[in-house]
Parts: sequence; structure tokens; C-alpha cells
Amino acid sequence: MNHTFQAPSALLEDGWHDAVTIAVNSDGWIESVDVDNDSPADHLLNGPVIPGIPNIHSHAHQRAMAGLAEKASGNRDSFWSWREAMYRTVETLDPDNLYDIARQLYLEMLRAGYTSVAEFQYLHHDINGAAYQQPAEMTLACLQAARDVGIGFTALPVLYAYSGFGSKPAESAQRRFINNHDTYMRIVGDIHKACRSSADFADNCSLGIAPHSLRAVDEQLLSDTLASCADIAQVVHIHIAEQVREVEESMAFSSQRPVEWLLDKFDVNERWCLVHATHTNTTEIEAIARSSAVVGLCPTTEANLGDGFFDLPTFMANNGRFAIGSDSQISISPVEELRWLEYGQRLVHQLRNVSASDDSPHTGQTLLNHALVGGRQASGRDTGAITVGKRADFIVLDNNHPRLAGRSDSNLIDSFIFSGNDTLVTDVFVGGRQVISNGHHHEEADITSRYQRTITNLGH
Ligand SMILES: [Zn+2]
Repeated sequence: MNHTFQAPSALLEDGWHDAVTIAVNSDGWIESVDVDNDSPADHLLNGPVIPGIPNIHSHAHQRAMAGLAEKASGNRDSFWSWREAMYRTVETLDPDNLYDIARQLYLEMLRAGYTSVAEFQYLHHDINGAAYQQPAEMTLACLQAARDVGIGFTALPVLYAYSGFGSKPAESAQRRFINNHDTYMRIVGDIHKACRSSADFADNCSLGIAPHSLRAVDEQLLSDTLASCADIAQVVHIHIAEQVREVEESMAFSSQRPVEWLLDKFDVNERWCLVHATHTNTTEIEAIARSSAVVGLCPTTEANLGDGFFDLPTFMANNGRFAIGSDSQISISPVEELRWLEYGQRLVHQLRNVSASDDSPHTGQTLLNHALVGGRQASGRDTGAITVGKRADFIVLDNNHPRLAGRSDSNLIDSFIFSGNDTLVTDVFVGGRQVISNGHHHEEADITSRYQRTITNLGH
């Protein structure tokens, strides 16, 4: 059945409009958008409407340890010591635990205004490192959680074969991650089938592949896997140049920096999402921008892990594309990601409104536009815009909140991003289906109590 939604104002591709009517078909696709239209609709939306924000980088299981790696070990903590703590946390997770964690996490994402998540899942095997009877079990647990909560989903099963450059054998702590080309292809095939076969979710689901990093694959494996997945994977995501040590190891191995090596060896194009790309020089930044790949920026995680700063001004000056992700789940807030992205640059450059330009002078609005357009590309889903032919993924902001008093259009988005921390998202729709009403999900009590029980039982 078709539905119509009437919004007092909405952010469309050409900017803000008043009295907007959105018609959505029974499969959740936008069929028409009319402006200055007061004719009656099935659903009245009570505040300004903006497209839902794609979250393009998530490791669901890391939600379980958010806040538990903030105690100093006394030994100059870094990304690498955090990684050891994370490995210890994930050792005992099984598919049921992961489902409970992912369901709570995705619920929190919806409440914050994310309407889709790209799940970069590298836990594949059981706690001894043996494949489950259904080898894709762990990613399928995330897919099921997304489907049950109602968030759009890009499955990114991770290809992880080695522990370092030069095909270095995997460590014992990585035993749950490890696959070769053939075992990986079985996982990808099963997820592809699961995405396509769920009649009520297929349009909300897409599939990509995720070589974990250049540490975890070699040239031959990456090349073979890209060829094998060419017809079924919409996107390719990879962690790259997150840490200085990774750049040093890459230089020692190939005399090239990670981004330099990847762009030299592979046809990196608009299907690719380079996650972090923190330690990149100007030549690399310009080359990524030319490739049309999206850079997946995760500012709260990059800050939490002490990664460093991406050269956003140079990238934006070269029309680079970026999107945002919650990554380690230290924060589940697109507002916080976008705000920290800008604040990091302000602190580095001792300037204000670094992300804005003469053509796009509103900082919050500019950042949001990038997260929507880049997010659509990197998630491999037709989302991120309220326009004909896209998914009906949109969110309603709280018009009665004091923070938005007297605000409209781009000032409203700037205030949404920069003026406070309590959520301004009241209602959320994914594929035309309402999943959050007045800030809550209809199964929230059950989802949250199961999560609390699971976390308590894990006893971290
Ligand atoms: Zn990550």
C-alpha cells in the first residue's frame, strides 16, 4: 500500500522547502515529492524532515567494550594496546551475544538519526577458531539484528588472512577472523543469499566486501577476491593508514605508503571506501579525491584511539568525498561525529568554519550534505536524499526544542550539529516504515533488558 507523508519543511536535494508531501510505495521507495502542497496526507510529520544519515563504519561487537579501555595500563597506551583489550573482550562472544549487542546498538543508532549501518564484521569463527556449521553465522546475526530493529544494512564480511605486511601468519588472538579465498567466498555467498531471500528486508540490505587492511591481505588474495566478488559486491571497504606504525611497516615492505601502494596496484574507484586514511600526504589526498572513492571518517573513534587528524581542508579543496562512521561505538551520534570532525580541524588550524566554503558557507549543513551523499555511495544503497527513486529513509527533528527556536533551513542544521547534546531526533522512518516514535522503538524495553543481561553475563 502506498503512503503519503506531509512535512512542514524538508531538506530536499536542492535545499529546504515548505509544505512537502512525500509519497512512498509499498516497497519503501519514494514515488513522488511535492512542495508547497497542503493536500491531506496519511501521516503528518511534526517537525522539519531531513534524510536519514548513513553510518558507513561499524564493528557491532565493540559496543560491548565502550568505556572499558579508558584505564591507563601504565605503559604508554596506544591504538595497539587498545586492540589487545578489544581482542580479549571479543574472545567469548557467540552469535547469540552478538545478536543482542547488535540489536541494542542499532536501536541506539536509529534513535540518534542513523538510518543505515555498514557492518564491517571480522569475527567469523567460534572461540577456538573453527568455522561454525554456518560459516557466515556472526555476520548473519548482525543482519538479523538489523532486520528486527528495522535499520538499513550493508553487510561487509571482512577478509582477514594475515597479521602483517608480507603475508605474516595470523596470531592466535586473531583465530576467529582468519579465512582464505575459498572459505571467505562461502561466507560472502551465504550472506548474499540471506540478503536477497528476505522478502521484507531485501530492499533495505546490500552487500560489500571488506579486506580488513593491507596488513591482513596480500596483493594476490585481494586481486582474486575482487575478481570473484565483482558481480555481487556493491562496495569495497578497507581500513587504511590509520596508524603511523602501519605506514612505517608498509614502507619497510614495499617502499610505498599504504594509500600510495593501493592506488598504484588496484583500480580504486567510486565503489571503494577508504576508512580513516589518517596518515596520508598531499599527493595521496589528491589521488584519493581524483579516484572518487569515499573516505570513511570516524572522528570520535579516531580521537579515542589517538589516531591523528585527516587532512580535511586539502581533501575538500579537491572535491573529495567523505562519510562518517561510529566504528568502535565509543559514540553513537552522527551529530558528535560531524562536530568533532570540524572541531579537530579548528584546533589544528586555529581557525573557525574550516569545512565551509564560499559556495557552501554553513558548516553544519555542509558536513551533513557530505555525510549523506558520501554515505549513500559508501553504503551501496539508494538512500541519503528525499527524492524520487530513493529509499524513504528520513528523520524528523524536534521543532519544539528550545535549541531550534527561531531556526530554519541551514541555520537549523548548524544548530542541530553544534548547539548541544540532547537528541533532537523525534521520529525515524526506514523504507517508509516508522521505527522510532517520539524518540523510542516499540521493542525498546525488551531489546535493552536482553542487552543488559548479556553484558552482565559476559562479565567484562
Ligand atoms: Zn574500524
